[in-house]
Amino acid sequence: FVGTVAVMLYMSPLLTVITLTIIPVMAVSLKWITNRTGKLFKEQQKNLGELNGYIEESVSGAKVIKAYSREKQITAEFLEKNAALKTSGFWAQTISGFIPKVMNSLNNLSFTMIAAIGGLFALKGWISIGSIVVFAEYSRQFTRPLNDLANQFNTMLSAIAGAERVFDVLDEKEEREDEKNAVHQPIQTGSIEFRDVSFGYDEGQQTLKHLQFTVPAGQSIAFVGPTGAGKTTVTNLLARFYEPDEGRILIDGTDIKTLTRASLRKNMGFVLQDSFLFQGTIRENIRYGRLDASDQEVEAAAKTANAHSFIERLPKGYDTVLTQNGSGISQGQKQLISIARAVLADPVLLILDEATSNIDTVTEVNIQEALTRLMEGRTSVIIAHRLNTIQRADQIVVLKDGEMIEKGSHEELILQKGFYSDLYKSQFEK
Ligand code: ADP
Repeated sequence: FVGTVAVMLYMSPLLTVITLTIIPVMAVSLKWITNRTGKLFKEQQKNLGELNGYIEESVSGAKVIKAYSREKQITAEFLEKNAALKTSGFWAQTISGFIPKVMNSLNNLSFTMIAAIGGLFALKGWISIGSIVVFAEYSRQFTRPLNDLANQFNTMLSAIAGAERVFDVLDEKEEREDEKNAVHQPIQTGSIEFRDVSFGYDEGQQTLKHLQFTVPAGQSIAFVGPTGAGKTTVTNLLARFYEPDEGRILIDGTDIKTLTRASLRKNMGFVLQDSFLFQGTIRENIRYGRLDASDQEVEAAAKTANAHSFIERLPKGYDTVLTQNGSGISQGQKQLISIARAVLADPVLLILDEATSNIDTVTEVNIQEALTRLMEGRTSVIIAHRLNTIQRADQIVVLKDGEMIEKGSHEELILQKGFYSDLYKSQFEK
């Protein structure tokens, strides 16, 4: 590009200046077009994202959609989103499709000017015809890189629109880093103490208010209370998915803020309501609890978790491949597998969010037995829904609107004739 301009200047400075005047015209028209297409490309990318999200949601929720006969509505919404994508895509491509045409026209205009003005100069004998021919060729060479660049603009604009959405994701806040002097100290005994802990997910809102309790190592604590009382939040704070606004949480007598998150979670086991199973064999899913476990250890864990017999009865046993979060096995069986996973992980501190879903009586008994075995000798924090579990806990904490309103053993709380005894009467006494 620079070389071409140099040769042109050498041949005829005046014709070069005339050729260069085309650049601002090009810039202005390119700006005019990209001002319009930039917005459209962004819209196209947004619509594409929405459409993809919608498809993914509808496919994974296909069962619910059918169960509620919502096919028509879903199809209509799909068509609407698809039409929006089509419109924005159509205009983005159409308007940006003008770029090469406009550039081409400007090139021809530039050629015409060179030929016309150069022709006049030749008549006057200032320049030879041969020079004009050579100059015209150079001017083409001069605009070619500009054209190439302009033609890449489409791709660039749509890439920028896409990149902006990627950066939105990258800019999301990450889990806070461990404090600089945090120590690596895995949980040893698992004793827990909440000292006047308050916490809110959003500013100005208190989800937990001045929570205070202790759990000696190896004992269990059950949290009961209405939905939204803050039971899950307690476990979120324990695992440091969130940090308390006030107060301190101690495990083994150490403030968990001074530990690295990895060491805190290393000896912590989770059995959650919605146990997540990955695509893979049952064996791999259990082994997720401890990656270096041998096949024998996996099976031993499954036996402890009362999962062995049902797994053996599957045609492919432990090599049965689970797809789509465990489709093909029942809810209760999924829970047994996730208990086996926790058994294998052998955590010191166990966090258990008891499933509320109704499960057939046999599996229910199996789960109860498995959990009792799992909890043996471990400190357990349980979000409890079943009377059986609640009664057996060493300590029961009743939460309501983030406040601890009662604390004690089952018998003590029944005698208090407060919230717990009412709950017990209304839900369990029959
Ligand atoms: P529980 O387990 O007792 O049903 P949670 O601890 O899940 O109750 O929720 C307590 C309160 O905190 C509820 O009002 C809930 O809406 C709110 N909450 C829970 N998780 C979040 C979150 N990630 N962001 C904002 N608010 C939340």
